[in-house]
Amino acid sequence: MNDTIALGRVAGLRVGLHWSVVGIVVLVVVGLAGYTLPLLYPGHSAVGYVLSGVAAAVLLVASLLAHEVSHAVVARRNGVAVDGITLWLLGGVARLRGEAGSPGAELVIAVVGPAASLVLAVLFGVAWWVADLMTAELVAAVLGYLALLNLVIAVFNMVPAAPLDGGRVLRAVLWRLGGDRYKAAVWSARAGRGLGFVLVALGFVELLARGVGGIWWVLLGWFIISVASAEEQQARVSMALAGVRVRDVMSSPVETADGRRSVEEFVQKVVLDRPHSTFPLTDDSGRFNGLVTLRQLRSVPARERRSTSVAALAVPPERVPAAEPDEPLATVLPRLSADTGGRIVVLRADELVGIVSPSDISRAVARHGLHVGTPGGADLRWSEEEPTPPPGWWFPGQREDA
Ligand SMILES: [Zn+2]
Repeated sequence: MNDTIALGRVAGLRVGLHWSVVGIVVLVVVGLAGYTLPLLYPGHSAVGYVLSGVAAAVLLVASLLAHEVSHAVVARRNGVAVDGITLWLLGGVARLRGEAGSPGAELVIAVVGPAASLVLAVLFGVAWWVADLMTAELVAAVLGYLALLNLVIAVFNMVPAAPLDGGRVLRAVLWRLGGDRYKAAVWSARAGRGLGFVLVALGFVELLARGVGGIWWVLLGWFIISVASAEEQQARVSMALAGVRVRDVMSSPVETADGRRSVEEFVQKVVLDRPHSTFPLTDDSGRFNGLVTLRQLRSVPARERRSTSVAALAVPPERVPAAEPDEPLATVLPRLSADTGGRIVVLRADELVGIVSPSDISRAVARHGLHVGTPGGADLRWSEEEPTPPPGWWFPGQREDA
């Protein structure tokens, strides 16, 4: 979901809309204005119905946003960095970079989303009651609809199956009881796959019995199966890396380069000289100052290569995933980002002491005897050139059929 329209910042978090969010708006507007409202509350103008439908759609998207913002804010407060929030067809996703440090933190990060939806359900419910007293029929209908939908979002998300919030709760509880976060994650992901299959089956039944509405459930089920499967694989990778520290796999010492050069000079003096596809930069005092990838360098048109400085192009240091040498490698994996070609820089008190590449991680996984996916060994399908980091731990705010 990279093709997002930046919506701005909420509570300091980058919020983006994926084009598929239009699907939610169309479903709500068409469903309410074209069908439900005229049927239940006849006698209003077409404009009145359409305005009610649009208001309901906008407030529903805002409700989803509130759900995700609450996850993100609590995650940040618990020391988990948040890349941003994206709203799309099936709800919202708060992209967390990293993992909760304890079962308790995991639990609150998960629970706060449904709690926010529940609070919204109550608020819309009260507003519904007031509008009903004032006999504002269509306003009351919209508010009642939003109260009900937020209640459904809160309840559905608490189903104990990953990647739903209830799955995070299950993982936190199993982690607390059994002491192994990754085994807990595997069980929560299995529950997720089970739920996904049930939803797909129910969707097909509804498709046959009642028509196109069932497609929604098939899509939702399929999405849950694919995310849960990816999470299970990620948990297994993490299990295989038990006892491996960042320092065990990192490449060290690191060759750094001066980012003040132009792209043209950089390519001739640095890139052609070294067998790497990612280049850490340092400033005057030798401190780490960002990272530039071959892909970024290539993206500069030939005629601009002389006038563009590498530093202007590079991923700034605060957005480069970083780790300490003694951290367990498994807890670092969720920080991987495609922006930096899957690289993690290893810092000791701001000093760059190493770098971890996807192939370093693949080698570590292979060496520790993991068999993921295909028979015959580690199969992470990471390449130096176009790395695909494993999916981050998501907190999707799934929504019910609108
Ligand atoms: Zn949620």
